[in-house]
Amino acid sequence: MQKSVSVPRHLEKVVEAAGEALALSRAPYSGISVGAAALLGSGRIIKGANWESPSYPAGVCAERAMLSAVFASGADAVIVAVAVVASAGGAGMDISPCGICRQSLLDAQNMQGTPFEVIFRYGGGYVTLDSAAELLPFAFSGI
Ligand SMILES: [Zn+2]
Repeated sequence: MQKSVSVPRHLEKVVEAAGEALALSRAPYSGISVGAAALLGSGRIIKGANWESPSYPAGVCAERAMLSAVFASGADAVIVAVAVVASAGGAGMDISPCGICRQSLLDAQNMQGTPFEVIFRYGGGYVTLDSAAELLPFAFSGI
């Protein structure tokens, strides 16, 4: 884990894309928009945003919306980096993936067989992880 005041240069584009994804968010209940983006090995960037439902559990987090789009983009998609950003009332805020998304990100990493970086703003700076595995120590790995 590295912590920095600004976004590391090699992750600027994916963080910017996650910020653009905030415009796709539908969060009438929490008021918290979350954007996620994945940088693929091909250079392509795929975005996702949270959307909430009146039936609360039916809503989907930005990270899992993004992962679904990555999987739908093709079987050869290899994630190199993931960025997650959030905003409430138009002001940026700290965010880190929820427990379900941590498991989903780790599952995606395990499926592709190579680690990807994860970056999010937290504690007055940006946290960069070298692997999604850092998000979830003692992860559930199935039976
Ligand atoms: Zn989540």
